[in-house]
Amino acid sequence: MESLKELYKIGPGPSSSHTIGPLRACKRFKNVYSDADNYLVELFGSLSLTGKGHYTDMICIKTLSPTPTEVKFHSDFLEAHSNMMYLHAYKNGEEVGFWEVASIGGGSIRILNLPKENFEVYKENTFEEIYMYISENQISLVDYVLENEPDIMEYLEEVWNTMQDSIERGLSRDGVLPGSLKFPRMAKAMYEEALASTNEIEKHRNYVTAYAFAAAEENASCNEVVTAPTLGSCGVLPAVLTYYHKNLGYPKEKILEALAVAGVFGNIVKTNATISGAEGGCQAEIGVACAMASSAIAYLHDLPNHMIANAAEIGIEHHLGLTCDPVGGYVIIPCIERNGVAALRALDNAHYAKVLGKNKPNFVDFDTVVRTMKNTGMKIPVELKETSLAGLASEVKIY
Ligand code: SF4
Repeated sequence: MESLKELYKIGPGPSSSHTIGPLRACKRFKNVYSDADNYLVELFGSLSLTGKGHYTDMICIKTLSPTPTEVKFHSDFLEAHSNMMYLHAYKNGEEVGFWEVASIGGGSIRILNLPKENFEVYKENTFEEIYMYISENQISLVDYVLENEPDIMEYLEEVWNTMQDSIERGLSRDGVLPGSLKFPRMAKAMYEEALASTNEIEKHRNYVTAYAFAAAEENASCNEVVTAPTLGSCGVLPAVLTYYHKNLGYPKEKILEALAVAGVFGNIVKTNATISGAEGGCQAEIGVACAMASSAIAYLHDLPNHMIANAAEIGIEHHLGLTCDPVGGYVIIPCIERNGVAALRALDNAHYAKVLGKNKPNFVDFDTVVRTMKNTGMKIPVELKETSLAGLASEVKIY
């Protein structure tokens, strides 16, 4: 598996595959072909169909500026991947550079016509392999991460700070989100509701929801957030961690460890299935975010490793088949609310893992649910995988 640095990426919203991926590709292309007179970016498949609402053209033009850049949208899908882009560089009217780039989810890219890069740092690829290793060596999941990435905590601190900043900003802002939906920001009002509430259960659920909305609204506003595992799902994990830190008093060190644990589960999915809505539907984004958050909570509650994995498994199991149908191509409906719902579910999942785990064996292990998610994603029609051609995107007409 790759480094957690390749899973948690800091960057501008609203979509890791549609903004961070293209941004990284354009940045690297510009470095190689810095003396080009002009660039052409061609977007294909989902990258094209939701490229406007996800601001893909804007991010490409901005990243390649001041060199003039044309962006072309093609609705057809290329065989290599559902999120494809071609980058061309021209000098004196001649093409001097060409990259074929797949934006594979969570802001990661593959340049298909260059030799494959290797970011692998973990030998193990499945939870079964990891579980065997940590059981044999009697180490925790956090020790396992540190053994493979001794300097990761410093990076996770940066990730955590960015997550907190995005939530703080989101909680303080009013008005409507960018785009033709004119969708009102809700995080601040929900946070005020939480502060004023005298019902303890309602209060705490409102805190979690407000944090999830805050990060997701900052994402929809193209501001800086963290892929966890993607930007569309960037509110789930930060929401529960902020709740445990700010409202329940868990220390920062423990929160950073929980981030590491959640990263292991996100990484397993990224390695063996997909974290791209264009490839696997929303189960691959919100479902995985929920799994990561569930494992983080289970870790914070000091549950044993098999129960942590069970919590993560429940997170995906109950999102299986979830489609991606963003209204107007914006990462707003259903995305923002979905972050809040998944954050609340993550609290329940950790609880289920603890209670059920005491009384019965887990019949669905984590690796099995990951495989199931991958196979289910392949059967979801393309219209419901980040193309805005069906589902809520075709039913909801509010713009
Ligand atoms: S519906 Fe889910 S997968 Fe699709 S853009 Fe929204 S958060 Fe991402």
